Parts: sequence; C-alpha cells; structure tokens
Amino acid sequence: MTRIIDLRSDTVTQPTERMRDAMRAALVGDNVLGEDPTVSKLESLSAEMFHKEAALFVASGTMANQVAVLTLCNHGDQIVVQDRSHIFNLEVGGLAGTCAVQPRAIPAQFGVYDLIQLEQQIQLADIQRSPTTLICMENTFDLNRGLVVNPEHILEVTQLANKHGIKTFLDGARLFNAAIALDLPVHLFCEGVNVVATCLSKGLGCPIGSLLMGTEDFITRARRMRQRIGGGWRQAGILAAAGIVALEEMVDRIAEDHINARRLAEGLLDLGLGIDLSQVQTNIIFCNLSPLRITSEIFCSYLTEFGVKAKAIGQFEIRMVTHKDVSSQDIAVVLEKTMDCLKKIKDIP
Ligand SMILES: *Cc1c(COP(=O)(O)O)cnc(C)c1O
Repeated sequence: MTRIIDLRSDTVTQPTERMRDAMRAALVGDNVLGEDPTVSKLESLSAEMFHKEAALFVASGTMANQVAVLTLCNHGDQIVVQDRSHIFNLEVGGLAGTCAVQPRAIPAQFGVYDLIQLEQQIQLADIQRSPTTLICMENTFDLNRGLVVNPEHILEVTQLANKHGIKTFLDGARLFNAAIALDLPVHLFCEGVNVVATCLSKGLGCPIGSLLMGTEDFITRARRMRQRIGGGWRQAGILAAAGIVALEEMVDRIAEDHINARRLAEGLLDLGLGIDLSQVQTNIIFCNLSPLRITSEIFCSYLTEFGVKAKAIGQFEIRMVTHKDVSSQDIAVVLEKTMDCLKKIKDIP
C-alpha cells in the first residue's frame, strides 16, 4: 500500500513516541478538584512561556476562544473581530449562540487592523447602544493562509484598547508558527494582551488540547466557564503530559515545516499553480488552480489517487499544510506526484 502524504492540515499528526511515553507515565488526579499534578505542571509551564500569571488547559482551540469571550464579556456586549477570523467563521456561531455577544466583523488585511477604522467601531454604552468590551486578534491569520502578524501591530491594538478601557484577546492557535517565522519568543506577541490562546494539537503535534493564558483572576473565572460548557475534565493529565513534551521539545522543530512549505510552494509555482510566495510565511500554502483550468474538487480527488491529500477550498483553490509527519523527502515526492497528477488530468479528453 502506498503511503498517503496528508497535507490537509497540521492537525492530522500522530503523537511522538516521547508523547506516548509521557502519557503512559503521567501522574494524574481529578482536575475538576484541582488535583491533577500533570495538568498543573502544563499550566504553569505555559503561563511562564507566555509571560502571563496563569493558564487553563482546555480541550480545543474553539473551546479556548469561547471560554475567553464568555469570561471577558457580558451578554449583549459588542466585540470587534476580524472578518476572516476563525472565531467569527468557524465556531458554529458560538459568539452569538454560546457567548450571546454581538460581533462586529471588520476587514483586516493580512490580519492587520486599520487602526482608524478600528477606533471608529468602538462604541460607548448609551440608551440605544451596547458597549464595545473586547477586541479580538488572530496570529497566524486567516482561515487558510498562515500569515504572520508582527508584535508591533498587536501592541498598537492593545494600546488603542487600553485608551478606551477595552480588553484584548489574541487567538494564537498557531502563534508558535508566527514566533518561529520571526525568530522571536512567543511572549513578545502577547505583551499587553489580556488573554491569549494557543493550540497544542496543530504544529506542536499533540493529540488534543489548547491553552488559555491571562491573569490569575481571569483564569479563576475562565475555569468556571469551562465547567459551565462541560469542559471540566478529570484525569486530563494523560493529555497534559503530551502538552508538556510539546512545549519542551516541539517548538523549534516548526522551523522545518516552514522550510518545507517554502520548497513545496516554489516547486508548485514551477508546475504552474497560482501561488503568491510572499504569502507563504509559515506552514500553509494557498494555491489557485484557475491558471490550470482545473477545479479544486477534481484536482484533490486525482491527487489522492496519487497518494497526496490536499484540502479543497473554493471552486479553484486548495491549501496544503506542512507538519511534523511530512519530511523534506516527502516534499520531493509531493512535487513528483503533483506533476504526474497534472499530466493525467491533461490527458483526459
Ligand atoms: C484551528 C484554529 C482554532 C480552533 O481550534 P480547534 O482545536 O480546531 O477547535 C481556532 N482559531 C484558529 C486561528 C485556528 O487556526
């Protein structure tokens, strides 16, 4: 059987042997009672890395985002989000359905708010208006691109928010990718941000888990919100053990994914796929197939026959994501298979 090289997402990875060993050996207890030493260790380790007072281990990036907004906002508050953000598009309407806040989505090209436009969205409570209480950011940015937002912009947004007495939240599901891309420590990207979230289950290769970081007081309240939505978990140290391995051993390795993505993007560009190399900044490659007059559905289904999986987006767009289970040799294989696939598609009358 030919091996499948799966480039649909960096969430498809297998845990490392070290993770499995750590999970097997983990000391555990009832985390709802605050008695799981491995969860506590993961939470203090991450709080330290992000330079925040405390952290909360949760099941997913979506849960981290929802718990953050539930904790930071009151029902009916207005919050500002980026129109192409995960929290606004891919969380089953949770901002409305779970958090009962009113999102005001504005464009933010490359994840960067126009500060003048942003400030215009901020409204004070009056007899007819609900107050703006939160500004959300995302890094890396965009549903399918992995663009890096530099720490200076994040700081500017937090300063604007402070001026108006508003809180800030950074959805940093792939913040380690941004940090590696700019070769900066991750805490620099959330200086001044009230609450930051990150995923362990993407580039870091964990089976499950995300983290929320903020003040002691925020985390105490967020822990109760996690419980409210059913996210209290018992011997979660089994999963936290993999998270500790991820934070200690898997961060620097992300650089390889970025090198692989770059090589793959250059190769695909040579094969005629539409790629803007300036937007290949981390581990995600966004390709347009319209120069080849092939639809994404057809391309992806043929590519799968050749042993490579990519994710179809729109009618003519696909994305490929590099991760720890894709080696640099695999990149050469993907390019070869893509070439074969394109030949086959051309030969069809
Ligand atoms: C993946 C992702 C999430 C959600 O994480 P899940 O663990 O899939 O729920 C949230 N925000 C961003 C920016 C993401 O990339």
